[in-house]
Amino acid sequence: MRQVSENLHQIKHRILAACQKVGRKPDEVKLVAVSKGQSPEAIREAYDAGQRIFGENYAQELQKKAEELKDLDIEWHFIGHLQRNKVKAIAPFVASVGALDSLKTAETLHQLLPKSIPALIHINIGAEATKSGISAAEVPDFLRALTIFSNLHTVGLMCLPPYDPDQEKSRPFFARLRKLGTHLGLSELSMGMSHDFEVAIEEGATIVRIGTAIFGDR
Ligand SMILES: *Cc1c(COP(=O)(O)O)cnc(C)c1O
Repeated sequence: MRQVSENLHQIKHRILAACQKVGRKPDEVKLVAVSKGQSPEAIREAYDAGQRIFGENYAQELQKKAEELKDLDIEWHFIGHLQRNKVKAIAPFVASVGALDSLKTAETLHQLLPKSIPALIHINIGAEATKSGISAAEVPDFLRALTIFSNLHTVGLMCLPPYDPDQEKSRPFFARLRKLGTHLGLSELSMGMSHDFEVAIEEGATIVRIGTAIFGDR
């Protein structure tokens, strides 16, 4: 079980190296440890190694873990697609919503959140028919519509490029997200997972979401 803290240590080292490669400061990049499908014990090990931000993408699972681990001051990020009928389960625990793509869900979040939290908009960056997220063309209207929900403050964009084990294939999508963020005046960019976070950092990621490279297979 020492493996988790060792992996975490290595990931931080790789984040540092990727930042140095392009002249960025390592404190510009936040690490979300994606703990979906992992045990509370594994989360505790990462916590003991200093990790505080954890990402989940199933509402019931987040609810269960947040209750089970309430003795720890974990910052829970909901990183997946969120359905309106699941908001109630996570509203008391969630510190950030990382993949907002529905105004109905946003409205319910606004109603049920105990306080204002940051939100990122999920952009369907590869324009894939089978994936959720909103299109780049729709973002300006979506962003404007969100402003009435004061319990959500939109801080940035998130994307999940079409999967390819070769991380260079993700680069153009990351670059596109960065351009869109700059254009919209949104500074946070949540992009990069276990297989492509270094390229994401080179392209300007401020949040990387890493699961299997820290915890092993799910
Ligand atoms: C599972 C998941 C991740 C982490 O993926 P790994 O390949 O395990 O690093 C990141 N982002 C989202 C939205 C996920 O669902």
